[in-house]
Amino acid sequence: MIYVNLVQDQRSGPRPHAIVIGSGFGGLAAAVRLGARGYRVTVLERRDQPGGRASVYRQDGFTFDAGPTVITAPFLFEELWSLCGERMADHVELVPVSPFYRIRFHDGTSFDYTGDPAAMRAEVARLAPDDVAGYERFVEMSRRIYEVGFEQLAHAPFGRWTDMARIVPDMVRLRSYRTVYGLVASFVHDERLRQVLSFHPLLVGGNPFETTSIYTLIAWLERKWGVWFAKGGTTSLVRGLVELIERQGHRVRYGAGVERILVEDGRACGVLLENGRRMPADVVVSNADAGWTYKHLLAPEVRHHWTDERVERARYSMSLFVWYFGTKRRYDDVAHHTIMLGPRYKPLLEDIFRNHRLADDFSLYLHRPTATDTSLAPAGCDAFYVLSPVPHLDADVDWTARAEPYRQAIEAFLSQTILPGLEREVVSSRLLTPLGFRDDLLALKGAAFGMEPVLLQSAYFRPHNASEDVQNLFLVGAGTHPGAGVPGVLSSAKVLDAVVPDASTFGRGTVAVDDDGVGSHAA
Ligand SMILES: Cc1cc2nc3c(=O)[nH]c(=O)nc-3n(C[C@H](O)[C@H](O)[C@H](O)COP(=O)(O)OP(=O)(O)OC[C@H]3O[C@@H](n4cnc5c(N)ncnc54)[C@H](O)[C@@H]3O)c2cc1C
Repeated sequence: MIYVNLVQDQRSGPRPHAIVIGSGFGGLAAAVRLGARGYRVTVLERRDQPGGRASVYRQDGFTFDAGPTVITAPFLFEELWSLCGERMADHVELVPVSPFYRIRFHDGTSFDYTGDPAAMRAEVARLAPDDVAGYERFVEMSRRIYEVGFEQLAHAPFGRWTDMARIVPDMVRLRSYRTVYGLVASFVHDERLRQVLSFHPLLVGGNPFETTSIYTLIAWLERKWGVWFAKGGTTSLVRGLVELIERQGHRVRYGAGVERILVEDGRACGVLLENGRRMPADVVVSNADAGWTYKHLLAPEVRHHWTDERVERARYSMSLFVWYFGTKRRYDDVAHHTIMLGPRYKPLLEDIFRNHRLADDFSLYLHRPTATDTSLAPAGCDAFYVLSPVPHLDADVDWTARAEPYRQAIEAFLSQTILPGLEREVVSSRLLTPLGFRDDLLALKGAAFGMEPVLLQSAYFRPHNASEDVQNLFLVGAGTHPGAGVPGVLSSAKVLDAVVPDASTFGRGTVAVDDDGVGSHAA
């Protein structure tokens, strides 16, 4: 490999080189933004496909999105295409989903959660007539929290104490010291309605009984911007972003695991790949799990803040058990998104988050994308996944032995409830357990959403977007500010605009040219 300080860009002159480690939504968004700001970008992904948690499994004629399916805040995606002078609608079609969720209680009754104020009021009145006024006040509170928590804070860096101090008055005014459930319970009394209005933190790895009430902003985010599904599955958004990056002349490389982030004089200066190659860069952005980045990709001697002890001491989100399955018939009365609440709410969450115990009961989220897009399964068939929040790998659970019995228990429950005869209809099946999160996605403790979003691990207290330990090293994705979920990780990439230096500060930049074309194929 030859290193040169300058590669002449055919179109726009020399450009500094940014390496992005990982191609989750956070990494892909970071690549688009850095490219738009004049960097030449290389995305290094250790797996054989992009997307990370949003990757895709195709088998037996079915298309299974591996992870995110509820797409909110579509403008965060649209912005990425706009930055490159394009329109997202020319590449990816988003379709609205309604109801947002059908929430099924353990007694078999259900609640259709939509974005339509009148329909929601009617549903609340049907379930808990005395709570209608309290519900309206809660919606208004959620709007106020959104206007501060999302519009002002989600895209702002939290690198200094003063950034945190500045928001304390707002946090007190908005009662952020309360938990999500606590805040909801102060507005409505019916326990089922409290569950309906408080489950949202689970979508980003938080326990409603411990997560700061700032996360009630999700309710208004959905109301204001809707819930969407990408035609062809969430994977269409991943593919769309990869193609956008490539059209800008940047590269996404697969099978390119990073073993170490190289540091010289306290500054990130490139990466060492698992295949032994070194690739220099002017800035490095890690989209790998934040805890993993510090513990495994940075040598201990360059870390003063994120020591192994601090990384270990952090609290991690729950993990997930996911069963992807295809059926040879359609279940037409099943909604696109169904949340099936089990017999226990708070005690189950305590088992998952606190006791690290795999309980016999469960609450489930069932995804039926073929309710919206029949192209995801063969004719007359349905594609599904069902996920169950489970403890991360601190729990004493041997998933190699427990996975199949657990799957069968879920299958039996679905068969007895909303998917009759399921055992006889399944023609395609695969599992993802906490071991997959640890071994395939390199998530510490197999946590599905990185560090748990509790107050003392949020904003300034979360791993910063500009590393506390190493200059020119930046973090995006679920483990950094603002946190997990697709809007969160897209917002983390937006924070880079404020913390990554302007490309011009690097002058001519440092570019690697090697025999597989890295560098020489730069835009
Ligand atoms: C089953 C499931 C369902 C979900 N549903 C929703 C939903 O409906 N809506 C929503 O908004 N959110 C949802 N989420 C959360 C959301 O998917 C994630 O928070 C988000 O996609 C994470 O993106 P990320 O940028 O952190 O990257 P990740 O998706 O975590 O990707 C990181 C990438 O980095 C790569 N990598 C790691 N280490 C290295 C290395 N050393 N070298 C090279 N590459 C490396 C990994 O292979 C991976 O591709 C869901 C999550 C899961 C698991």
